[in-house]
Amino acid sequence: MNLPGTLQTLLLACCLMCGPAQAFELSFPAPLRNNSHTYYAHLPGTQPDGLSFFEGFIRSLTVWMDASGNIRLSAIDEEREVCSDAGQGSTQNGVNTASFADSFCGDDSYFSGSTIAEALTQTSWNPSAILESDIVFNGNRKQQFESFDHHFHHVAVHEIGHTLGFGHSAVRASIMVPRLSQGRRDPVLSIDDLCALAMRYGSPEDCPILLGEGLSTNGLPTDAEFVGGATDDSGWTFRERFEPSDRITIYGTVVKDRTHAFRRGDLHVVASTEDGVLFARHADGNFHPLEDPENIPSAGELDVDLYAQDLVIMGTRHPDREPSVGPLIGTVYQLVGQTIYFYLAYSLKDRPGEYYYGSEPIRVSWPSG
Ligand SMILES: [Zn+2]
Repeated sequence: MNLPGTLQTLLLACCLMCGPAQAFELSFPAPLRNNSHTYYAHLPGTQPDGLSFFEGFIRSLTVWMDASGNIRLSAIDEEREVCSDAGQGSTQNGVNTASFADSFCGDDSYFSGSTIAEALTQTSWNPSAILESDIVFNGNRKQQFESFDHHFHHVAVHEIGHTLGFGHSAVRASIMVPRLSQGRRDPVLSIDDLCALAMRYGSPEDCPILLGEGLSTNGLPTDAEFVGGATDDSGWTFRERFEPSDRITIYGTVVKDRTHAFRRGDLHVVASTEDGVLFARHADGNFHPLEDPENIPSAGELDVDLYAQDLVIMGTRHPDREPSVGPLIGTVYQLVGQTIYFYLAYSLKDRPGEYYYGSEPIRVSWPSG
């Protein structure tokens, strides 16, 4: 191992100490059947801006439709939320609903805590589709919906995102972050949300941070997609060039090939210097020199059960802290004038040595001067 390699190892290890990166999450199965949903929305009451909750719900549907010409969402002002004889709520009656409630057919366990709202979906596996969605806003919190500007709108856009098949995102700018703060400004979809939409309902090329073409080392065509980028503003914008003082977060998402859903596998992250010195992220969260590019260590296990897509974690998980490669500060000066390239890949357990990867890297550079 040469000396510059050792130096880079330390620097990369440092930048990866500071946390994970995980972007949008596509819940499986999806998409919406026929890419369309009509909700029977019974939402009496009024937002602080004077708009009825029903009108606010329509506005929230529009936020998603404005961002994708391929989905059709509408709402009818009618109460259709009913409990079945089996006490299963209305999640299995083929009717999409949006309502206020403080229990699911008598089961109030969902709404006793801090839950603001829930989205329940009924899905089919073959073909894979979301058949029904029910959004329930916590009736115990109605006063907050009536009092805080933009609160209902924000929560509604988030829950509608779930009914479109999107899970939570760690990108702070995303509407799909698991915890919403109250009284924020009008919800706007982030680049992360737009990429989720592009992957599920549009064309991957519509995602501004698509990492080139999905390729496989066996040369066979694949519909795997790789998405990611570096940001210093929580994911509102992504870019390549940073100041040494910038606090950088790198997010990445691997969308597995359709034929690989539910198969066990590993994530891989390879970093390259401008000189072509290679490092691989190990499961310990740090980057180590990559000795054999045909045998890349695992950066973590693929999530096999729930998602057709998986997250590339570039550090340790911490629920309360924004993932960041921030503490480069102090050591980053040694990277001034340099670019580091991060490539995302995955492999399947039963096909070792065969990699699926994005043709373009996430670039992070600290220009000199
Ligand atoms: Zn949620």
